[in-house]
Amino acid sequence: MYYSFQYKRYQLPLAAALRTAHGVWTVREGIILRLEDEAGQVGYGEIAPIPWLGTETLLEAEETCRKFGDQVSADLLAAVPESQGCVRFALAMAQRRSAPAPVTTRLPVAALLSAGRPAVKQLSAQLEAGYLAFKWKVGVFPVDEELGILDDLLSRLPAPAKLRLDANAAWTSRQAERWLARCAECPIEFVEQPVAPAEEDALLGLAGDYPVKLALDESVVRLAEARRWQALGWPGVFVLKPALAGPLAEVIAWIAATSPDVVISSALETALARTEILRAVLSQPLTKRALGFGLGAVYGDRRWDGPLLGPLADASCLAPNPGEEIWNALN
Ligand code: MG
Repeated sequence: MYYSFQYKRYQLPLAAALRTAHGVWTVREGIILRLEDEAGQVGYGEIAPIPWLGTETLLEAEETCRKFGDQVSADLLAAVPESQGCVRFALAMAQRRSAPAPVTTRLPVAALLSAGRPAVKQLSAQLEAGYLAFKWKVGVFPVDEELGILDDLLSRLPAPAKLRLDANAAWTSRQAERWLARCAECPIEFVEQPVAPAEEDALLGLAGDYPVKLALDESVVRLAEARRWQALGWPGVFVLKPALAGPLAEVIAWIAATSPDVVISSALETALARTEILRAVLSQPLTKRALGFGLGAVYGDRRWDGPLLGPLADASCLAPNPGEEIWNALN
């Protein structure tokens, strides 16, 4: 099987800069690709890397695309190395010819709160909007300052609501211990990636020593890494960003077969990849945890943002025909 292959780069300014422990993110860059098979069927895919989380870089992804040329065999597409999880996700998406499964379920969405003090005002506004799950970026400001803000957030959180903390691998073990001791018996759903992925013993130790649940994110960027942590007996949550992890069907099959405790999360992909991911997640019971897609209007442009998600994700958050629309919008 041969495909005719084309790709276009995109560069989209974020409506609001995203500040995490990895730095400030202002422009999302990626690649939209188009595969047309011998029967004339067209599929689109999106490559949306986040190199500082450990994915391939955009340049590496583009080099892979450039080498495919205008005509590419299915064998060559299948030979992309596992390290290029974003490229593999995009190619599998563009090659999918089966009709998507119908949406049968709804899932809550976790609203993202900015790092630092602005989170307090945002929390009130998002509670008003109906959100009950929140994620706050920590590890950006000094521990004492952030622990003070945490008290303010917790004092505003009504009983059924839960707060996730995401340290983005910023803490030392000692800092993580302070935070985790503080989080005991608080309505903290989990603490995400307290220390760096390389500190595997510390991650396992912290997970065993404190009552609050821990989640891996940077540690499990690709599916192979999630499988490895599962084999190690990781007792917590796996935050999966399917756009980074590899072919979506493989990720879904792993969850369905082994029932890990997962959160499905955004990689700030456009409506194209997001629709593909949400359709799969909403068509079968994979998780009860709130989706990590509560980012609001990421780009401030409906072509890239697609339908905006509210506190509950259902069929209405799927873009009707995002591939063609986004492809045609790019030069
Ligand atoms: Mg994270």
